[in-house]
Amino acid sequence: MSQRVYLDYNASAPLRPEVREAMVEALAIDGNPSSVHAEGRAARAAIEAAREKVAFLVGAVPANVIFTSGGTESNATALAPKTAADPLFVSAIEHPSVLAGGRFPANAVRQIPVTGNGVIDLEILAGELDTHHFEGERARALVSVMTANNETGAIQPVSEAAAIVHERGGVLHSDAVQAAGKLKLDLAALGADLLTLSAHKMGGPKGVGALVLRRGMEVGPLLQGGSQEQRRRAGTENVACIVGFGVAAELAVADLEKVQAVAKLRDELEAGASAVTPDAVVFSAAVPRLPNTICLAVPGTKAETLVIGLDLAGLAVSSGSACSSGKVEASHVLSAMGVTQEIAQGAIRVSLGWATEAEHVERFIEAWGALIKRLKEARQAA
Ligand code: PLP
Repeated sequence: MSQRVYLDYNASAPLRPEVREAMVEALAIDGNPSSVHAEGRAARAAIEAAREKVAFLVGAVPANVIFTSGGTESNATALAPKTAADPLFVSAIEHPSVLAGGRFPANAVRQIPVTGNGVIDLEILAGELDTHHFEGERARALVSVMTANNETGAIQPVSEAAAIVHERGGVLHSDAVQAAGKLKLDLAALGADLLTLSAHKMGGPKGVGALVLRRGMEVGPLLQGGSQEQRRRAGTENVACIVGFGVAAELAVADLEKVQAVAKLRDELEAGASAVTPDAVVFSAAVPRLPNTICLAVPGTKAETLVIGLDLAGLAVSSGSACSSGKVEASHVLSAMGVTQEIAQGAIRVSLGWATEAEHVERFIEAWGALIKRLKEARQAA
């Protein structure tokens, strides 16, 4: 059997070999990073070295990087009423961990609509902030706008959103889980007050992430009961995963141009697929997208059929958002973009990354052609 082709980097990118090596070495560190003895100090040093690398990835101060168990926890930590007043404003295409509202009550989460191209409508955001009367001691808004969408790859106007929010005295959080390692990220240029990162989307291990704060910003801990992470996140640090995250961040900086070059392969894949299925709809194609992502649907064909057919042919892609696999309902992102249920149910996401080669794209186009032909024949025979 020929080698499998993995094209699901937005769900989780393969671990980079350098990361694995550094993690194996870190697993040999016996100490608890909070201990004062030499073993403890070795663990602490490993964490602090990683913190510097993660901070450098986004132009932040190392002391303002809080290590967490991943993007989900970072989002839950960031979205805290302690930072701002009700309600919380989020774009309608956020990851479910943002839509859930963190520590805000569910009925205090307001969704800001997106355009048909999957980009937040800034006029509506400004209007909502202008008309809302914030009450209480922290009478300011908290707004969450992701840096780039995980399903369509659509890049969001975060710095423009930040200007709108800041002009009105509010705070902006951005979930940069999918953008990190694919776009150049700078906390100051983005204008974000809080930024969420996750290691496993950029070749690091699963189960570790960070919440990055701009200077002067503070959040209350989600997990309490320990002084770790400057009392911002209790619990003994996951030393090996944090070390792996640091190496992944370092490689993301060094290889940014290489990763961005997958845009050429993505475009070839898009052209190849569209040649076979000219009626395919490519979502967010008219706006700037992540260089590695394509989300497309073939009218009349179910996403599961395509995902399973491609899987049997040796290729891994996902339907809608693969963050929670096995789900069959249409994506909330596509629904927010006004895509009909019928079309949205056929949407698959193909996402490339650091190890994708031209040959993988050729394999996809070949498999796509064969699968579509088979499905057509089966339909005709029925
Ligand atoms: N935010 C976005 C945009 C994502 O794509 C994901 C993916 O799962 C997450 C947050 C959650 O990150 P994690 O898997 O590290 O919890």
